[in-house]
Amino acid sequence: MFREIFDSHDLNRIRDRIYSSSESDFEKALASNDSRFTPDGIIPFFSPAADKHLEELAHRSSGITRARFGNTIQLYSPLYISNECNSSCIYCGFNARNRIKRVTLTPEEVTMEADALYGMGFRHILLLTGESRRAVPVTSMAEMIRRIHGKFSSISVEVYPMETQEYMELIRAGADGLTIYQETYDREAYAIVHPRGEKSDFYWRLDAPDRGGAAGFRRIGIGSLLGLSDWRIEGFCTALHAMYLSKKFWKSQVLISFPRLRCAPGDFKQPFNVTERDLAHLICVMRILLNNAGLVLSTREPAVLRDNLFPIGITTMSAGSKTSPGGYSLDNDAGGQFEIEDVRSPYVISEMLKQKGYDPVWKDWDRNFQA
Ligand code: SF4
Repeated sequence: MFREIFDSHDLNRIRDRIYSSSESDFEKALASNDSRFTPDGIIPFFSPAADKHLEELAHRSSGITRARFGNTIQLYSPLYISNECNSSCIYCGFNARNRIKRVTLTPEEVTMEADALYGMGFRHILLLTGESRRAVPVTSMAEMIRRIHGKFSSISVEVYPMETQEYMELIRAGADGLTIYQETYDREAYAIVHPRGEKSDFYWRLDAPDRGGAAGFRRIGIGSLLGLSDWRIEGFCTALHAMYLSKKFWKSQVLISFPRLRCAPGDFKQPFNVTERDLAHLICVMRILLNNAGLVLSTREPAVLRDNLFPIGITTMSAGSKTSPGGYSLDNDAGGQFEIEDVRSPYVISEMLKQKGYDPVWKDWDRNFQA
């Protein structure tokens, strides 16, 4: 389990080493072969000393991305099944204490939403729920996946953490990807922003990608919600986690997302600022450390920034996203999880990619490959 590796690292010591790394430490780390990256060896990549080398990092990252993935960007869209949640994450619109209209879609409504996304061209979708087993039990989720999986070449889930057997039930129904963000690897910050509900259990969540890997998900997505703690330490822990998962579940592709906390509900004040430059730094470093990882940039970020950032290392982008259940085809006023910044349609985004010399990919996998 990753928790053993995580617990063996003293994050205060890691923080000191990140902040005391010199430019020559960074240059030595950059010159080392990627097959030799060790937990200690990756520390200088996250240091302030590395900040001055962003251009060099971007050049290296972009070269690796083009060599591994060509000029392709895979497009996907989220489909929210429910906004009911028992947890009270203070940065989230679905927080159980927020007064929003709560909606859980019926299987028929999920099919309508899926049809709407299919009509826009999507063949990869991400199904999401809040953390409420009562609102969306595992068996119902499996039934929804069974109903729609014939239309989609890839169905990922971003749902409450489950047992391995439960993940296996979703895979049997047709899901192939699991996304689960730790949100923050800083245990103190984690306790503050997740005060109640199942999500307050740090280790139950930390172990979830292991359970998903053991269940057999073909894609495993992780990430930190940038802004909850120091992005340099979060970056180090995310890289450590991704390196572990890539090695242990070598048949699965690991994906890393970079959700940046932007406007949060109520009077929650974002504890740490993460600038656009910091975000670019993180993307480049993840690509250099994890050459084959899928790197994901969502519509949380504004259009101009997404257009400038994707060439440096991104492989996967969401498009046309709605963050409320029923957002694509139903008129139900359900509350959304967060505000979307890039509101361009999937068509406009795909045309933008083509104009820049990239191939927008709607489908890159067929289940029959697995037979
Ligand atoms: S982040 Fe997830 S668990 Fe937390 S309140 Fe939002 S939906 Fe619920």
